[in-house]
Amino acid sequence: MKIKSSEFVISAVSPKQYPDEGLPEIALAGRSNVGKSSLINKMLLRKNLARTSSQPGKTQQLNYYRINEELFFVDVPGYGYAKVSKSEREAWGRMIEKYMTEREPLRLVLQLVDLRHPPTALDVSMYEWLSHYDIPICVVGTKADKLTKNQMPKHAKIVRETLGMPKSQPLVLFSSETGMGRDELWSIIEQAADL
Ligand code: GDP
Repeated sequence: MKIKSSEFVISAVSPKQYPDEGLPEIALAGRSNVGKSSLINKMLLRKNLARTSSQPGKTQQLNYYRINEELFFVDVPGYGYAKVSKSEREAWGRMIEKYMTEREPLRLVLQLVDLRHPPTALDVSMYEWLSHYDIPICVVGTKADKLTKNQMPKHAKIVRETLGMPKSQPLVLFSSETGMGRDELWSIIEQAADL
């Protein structure tokens, strides 16, 4: 995928604000600090388009990025903030649930997990929830550069087993530092978005 343009569109706090251009949407989900902003920046070859700092408190915004006038990345706020209240967590859940199950242009959810560690209980519930609703998922193992080439297969296996991924589903090993996995992920996105 050649990136001709990429721009931030809106931090949408309600469905009324979601873009109505009908372009396919790729959502990105993962717990806070998993490397989501870094991945977005790397995919778009931008240094600082997505803010590479977690933003506690902004738990109910979907950040939309338009790419090549062809598709949107939709940055879903990270789950698992320790500091947010129960009511905020519930509001987060309702917003995400509605978006993921009802949003017509949604084509694929990239679920990010930290490749260094086994997926957390929250990662597992997110994955099971998406699978239950038959939402197309691509799991991305982030921060792969922090492992040696030798360690990678073992960690990939733990991610697959902990989430219970079917063999046919790809697990993309990704690094925002080295660009590992970038081409593979773009080709999965292009296919899902029918580009
Ligand atoms: P977010 O909260 O999910 O958006 O996570 P960020 O993109 O802000 O990343 C969290 C921290 O992990 C930052 O300190 C990043 O520099 C670091 N990080 C993110 N991706 C990578 C990666 O691929 N490799 C390495 N070594 N560090 C990463």
